[in-house]
Amino acid sequence: MSLADASHYMRISSPRTPQVHLIESARGGHLFVADGSRLFDADASLFASYRSAIEGGSEAIEALLRQAGLVERPFIDDMPLAPPPLRALSLAIAQKCNLGCTYCYAQQGEFGGIARNMELTEAHRAVDLLVARAEPGARLNLAFLGGEPLVNRKVLRAATLHALEQAGRRGAKITFSITTNGTLLTEDDGRFFEEHGFAVTVSVDGPREVHDAQRPFKGGSGSFDTVMKRVAPLLKMQQRMQVSARVTVTPHNISLRRTLDTFVAAGFHSVGFSPMLSAPTAAGEMQSGDLELMLGEMIDCGREYERASRSRRRYPFANMVNAMREIHRGTHRPYPCGAGAGYLGVSAEGELSACHRFVGDKEGAMGSLDDGVDTSRQADWLAARHVHRQEPCRSCWARYLCGGGCHHEVIRRGRPACDYIRGWLHYCLEAYLRLSSEPETMGRDLAGMAHG
Ligand code: SF4
Ligand code: SF4
Repeated sequence: MSLADASHYMRISSPRTPQVHLIESARGGHLFVADGSRLFDADASLFASYRSAIEGGSEAIEALLRQAGLVERPFIDDMPLAPPPLRALSLAIAQKCNLGCTYCYAQQGEFGGIARNMELTEAHRAVDLLVARAEPGARLNLAFLGGEPLVNRKVLRAATLHALEQAGRRGAKITFSITTNGTLLTEDDGRFFEEHGFAVTVSVDGPREVHDAQRPFKGGSGSFDTVMKRVAPLLKMQQRMQVSARVTVTPHNISLRRTLDTFVAAGFHSVGFSPMLSAPTAAGEMQSGDLELMLGEMIDCGREYERASRSRRRYPFANMVNAMREIHRGTHRPYPCGAGAGYLGVSAEGELSACHRFVGDKEGAMGSLDDGVDTSRQADWLAARHVHRQEPCRSCWARYLCGGGCHHEVIRRGRPACDYIRGWLHYCLEAYLRLSSEPETMGRDLAGMAHG
């Protein structure tokens, strides 16, 4: 059943025209206008007009859109974003790791270099770069990644306190996040993260046997029991802190519904899935058949989310919650993320990069703590990475919801997941139309969105 769903969604979401995408639901026909990511109901005759206009090509669609007053100034033009103020920084606080994950983008935490920790002085300089020009009221985020960031716990905590102090002086608001493999977490870490309202993301790849095969200790033994034992006290402590599970999906752990239910039951604040699209050794990379299977599983999880929403049951399936929010807001963006824009990564040696995945990678180099942000490289990056400069994104109806795909994965491997992305978005648009037409059954995620 899941696979049949996936094939169906891949087929009906295939790109026909860049301007619009048609969706049919139990409520009738709907028109998704790519420009501005706008969603409209369409009566039977309007829907039929668009359907035949799609056969007639771009000009016929343009004429219909013009008639409806939907082609004035485009929401997104070809102009690249000017380098914006720095708002978020991730620190590769420890370029070393105690796990030997099969697919690690950071090459066992060391990014192809020497295993090392970030020195306290470097961490403070990085914080100062983030905070120095923040205006009063600015919202900043400091993220700790690795390797395994808790290998360098002392510097992590000192940098957090320094950031709070510096941001406080400037009247800026700063939040914190950490992505950890969970194996070194202590209750004391939990208290620290709780006190400072950290968003804690724990990388877990599924129930024990699946997780252990993908995320063993460097010595080869499984890490699942250690992770779950160490994360348990944090799950109980969550008030200001949010502890989420992030699952990297490879061809070997595609049974997503079981994984989702396992981690929701364990008490994670949310559970999200990301397909493994690019690994340094190609190990674990998803191929088109795997992505089709994954789409079926994602839709299965999404349907459970819809049922839960109707019965007002909490079901924190992060991909779905985020998609509902983005569709509701009409998110339209010319980039997939803030990498190389308001978000940068810092290596343990103090080199700046477009994001945490470009640490040690010349492709995404953005200056250094010594020389500051290289704004000319940043401007070139933002010009080159604009979704209008990407193929085949320019002609894809989903371009402003998707943004063109993770830069790192696209640069390394191209775009193998477009059918999966569009199939998922089509399903999410349908689900949004269903749920938003039943306000009395809206779950907390959708109800919260009305104010978002
Ligand atoms: S990367 Fe995203 S925007 Fe580009 S073609 Fe694929 S689905 Fe469309
Ligand atoms: S480039 Fe990819 S890994 Fe980096 S922030 Fe963007 S989506 Fe994330």
